[in-house]
Amino acid sequence: MGDTIFGKIVRREIPADIVYENDDVLAFKDLNPQAPVHVLFVPKRALATLNEATSADAELLGKLMLAAADYAKAQGFDKDGYRVVVNCNEHGGQTVFHLHLHLLAGRRMHWPPG
Ligand code: C5P
Repeated sequence: MGDTIFGKIVRREIPADIVYENDDVLAFKDLNPQAPVHVLFVPKRALATLNEATSADAELLGKLMLAAADYAKAQGFDKDGYRVVVNCNEHGGQTVFHLHLHLLAGRRMHWPPG
């Protein structure tokens, strides 16, 4: 696990509003929500960014995405729809360097994003 704020959340060293967990993935509410629903899905085994992912991480990346989809369906967000986002490095808007997937729901999203 990387030594970031998300690593500390995964290790339960700092609190978070955890909404979903399985063996590989933890999900918690974003502290600065950009939609009525804004949940962050993080792999317990940290990668800094998507750039660090290799074919050895394919299963983990799949589990991360499926965790978000499972949660979205369980919460009923699948009917109206939702968005998943991975920001990568500076131009992508990444600020926490423990790979994570944003799940945004509860309002209509716009495209292109800002
Ligand atoms: O993709 P990016 O790295 O910018 O996303 C980081 C997200 O983590 C932000 O949406 C920010 O609000 C959230 N965050 C959080 N709790 C923290 C630090 C950051 O929910 N303690």
